[in-house]
Amino acid sequence: MESEPKLAAGSGGSVVVEACQACGDADLQSVLFLGYLPPVNQMRMIGARPHEQPAYPAELLYCPRCEMVQIGLIVDPAILFPPDYPYTSGTTRILHENFADLSRECAELLAPAADDLIVDIGSNDGTLLSKFADGGWRLLGIEPTEAGQLARDKGIATEAAFFTKGLAERMKDKHGAAKLVTAANCFAHIENVHDIIKGVVALLADDGVFVSESHYLISLLETVQYDTVYHEHLRYYSLTSLVNLFAMHDLEVIHARPIPSHGGSIRVYAARQGSRPALPSVKKMLAAEAARGPMAEQLSLFKDQVVASKTELLTMLHGIKAEGQRIQAISAPSRASTLAHYAGLDDGLIDCILEIDGSRKIGRTLPGTLIPVVEESRLFADQPEYALMFSWHIADELAPKLRDKGYKGKFIVPLPRPRII
Ligand SMILES: [Zn+2]
Repeated sequence: MESEPKLAAGSGGSVVVEACQACGDADLQSVLFLGYLPPVNQMRMIGARPHEQPAYPAELLYCPRCEMVQIGLIVDPAILFPPDYPYTSGTTRILHENFADLSRECAELLAPAADDLIVDIGSNDGTLLSKFADGGWRLLGIEPTEAGQLARDKGIATEAAFFTKGLAERMKDKHGAAKLVTAANCFAHIENVHDIIKGVVALLADDGVFVSESHYLISLLETVQYDTVYHEHLRYYSLTSLVNLFAMHDLEVIHARPIPSHGGSIRVYAARQGSRPALPSVKKMLAAEAARGPMAEQLSLFKDQVVASKTELLTMLHGIKAEGQRIQAISAPSRASTLAHYAGLDDGLIDCILEIDGSRKIGRTLPGTLIPVVEESRLFADQPEYALMFSWHIADELAPKLRDKGYKGKFIVPLPRPRII
């Protein structure tokens, strides 16, 4: 698996994936086609007349050679991650707790010495690095968007740049080698995965460790999360596929475990081959993945489940509308856009989407639709009979909160199979 991918050029800065993003093999199998999706972060103002906008084919592909599941079109990152990219990690409690857990685990496993360098790729507003602030370590964030200023305001050194091998070499010359490099929820988002890993290898000390957190393919399959397929997510990792990918760069996975972020993620520790002992967690997780059976069969079952889930949701929503009842939706995460487009939800079915006060999405419409995003208070004033949960993966946390605040209707949880609670 020495070859690297030769991607074919597409139009308008996007790139069609003609060969596996990881191993370069051209024998890619189609898993699922979700139609054409608009960029999830382009939300127009309520009342603005819709005008021409791009939409990109969302096809999920599988590489039997290296086990990598991946999207079939790489959209120009300048379109997906504009400088005013609205996502800030500091706003989500679950992610705060996860980052605190990550820093504790790293401190325990790696015992970095005072003054060791810790680098976070895609450091966003500095939330993860801030969890390392009490250890006496030197911290450096790499963040191309304006969110980096929020980190600098907190006193965390942050380089305004995309992470590349070239940047990694410059950072090493300037700051020295890193004991720990982290990449939380961005390792599946960056186009040239080999360039990132080469950069990590260049930056790491001989006994350094690279920790990545990414959406976990097995969670995606188990809970039929087709809504997490959109163009920001270029690859959908199993541990098996990551072991294959890292091996191409003489890196070895030394620890791995599932974590709850984003409806099911995987935290993976990798180091130079032979530099550190691998913990039993690695073999255990790989065995659990193998025990699920051939990936091609799992993906075929997944497609059937996706289609069934969509048709059941539509049947449910049409039944509710036929009785003259109202449906509003709770929260507008990126995944809401995929679900709405694939299932065909529009402002005829969903009256509005509710976001908590202060959300930058209020006053805008869900991408590619006229469904308005409004303040949460509207839910309690209108008391619609049904509230559809786009953030269904945290329904157990959200539903009681909305009940406490006074919502009396029923909740629709759209995935894995639509149900009413
Ligand atoms: Zn491959």
